[in-house]
Amino acid sequence: MKPDIDVDRAARDEWLDPTPEIVTDGVVRIPLPMPGDALRAVNVYALAQPDGLTLIDGGWAMPEARAQLDDGLYAIGEDARSIRRILVTHAHRDHYTLAVVLRRELGMPISLGAGERQSIEALTTLSPLVRFESQRALLRAAGASDLAELVGRLEEGVDPWVKAWEHPDTWLEPSTIAVGDRELTVVPTPGHTQGHVVFADTEAGLLFSGDHVLPHITPSIGFETVSTASPLRSFLESLAVVRRLPDLRLLPAHGPVSPSSHRRVDELVAHHDARLRATSELLSEVPLAAAQVAACLGWTRHGLSLDDLDAFNQMLAIGETVAHLTVLVAAGEVRSRLEGDVVTYTRAYAESARS
Ligand SMILES: [Zn+2]
Repeated sequence: MKPDIDVDRAARDEWLDPTPEIVTDGVVRIPLPMPGDALRAVNVYALAQPDGLTLIDGGWAMPEARAQLDDGLYAIGEDARSIRRILVTHAHRDHYTLAVVLRRELGMPISLGAGERQSIEALTTLSPLVRFESQRALLRAAGASDLAELVGRLEEGVDPWVKAWEHPDTWLEPSTIAVGDRELTVVPTPGHTQGHVVFADTEAGLLFSGDHVLPHITPSIGFETVSTASPLRSFLESLAVVRRLPDLRLLPAHGPVSPSSHRRVDELVAHHDARLRATSELLSEVPLAAAQVAACLGWTRHGLSLDDLDAFNQMLAIGETVAHLTVLVAAGEVRSRLEGDVVTYTRAYAESARS
């Protein structure tokens, strides 16, 4: 994830205040803590219905998050026993695993986008080491085999909650879900993960955008156990899907509620356009591996070099560079070639000249 808009630091951190925020009548945002300093927190939204609450996203399964959820619910006169169901935007740990823990304890059903089925299948059956295999293969092909080794060991230390992964009760397809008087439209938005969904309440003008559209950072692309051919293409297509909805208030999973889904989608599209141009312009007739390309690009809003990032974020950065290169190859602007175990890229001058 890369912060890409510079705003006043204090204002930027306001959303982390654990006090629940009443977004509108019947919708409360409760930020929950998560490990690591990049994302800071994950927002869970509690939606009132006559017999209790629907949660959108569940949080990261760790005791501090569970305690903060209890405090947040208490502050609005509820408790975890009022939760009737949990709708989860995607199968990343910070959104899904606390939902599983709550379900074990209290029995409410969990719903997740149908496109996450393969990932959940892998996460519930494979050992943590094997789970990172697609990322490791990507890194080896990107010319970063040392990092691939390092990444293989990352998951070991995360937590012992291998069993925090279970199947949901329902796989969500495009549909509408009634939450009291509210009607949520389930909109598949593959890209951040294959089965990511957002929930639109067009009547109230709200978009529960998960990690698909975030106000301050650009979501990582295609970081998941089972990878797809061109996650960036999927992501850009999904941004177009959200852009065709009415302009809605953005209720993201990380960051503050912000006024315009359209404005943020336009910024994200412009960011990726610029990134595609920068990636393309770096290339010449000299073959470069994706890790070398990533090393020539700036990362985060501070323009850090790849070496300044920790191993996990280096992995995301190289993954994103591969995603951009894949789109450029499909567009005919860049050529790829397998040299041994490594894919290298050159600018397709001849093709551009002819077109
Ligand atoms: Zn997230």
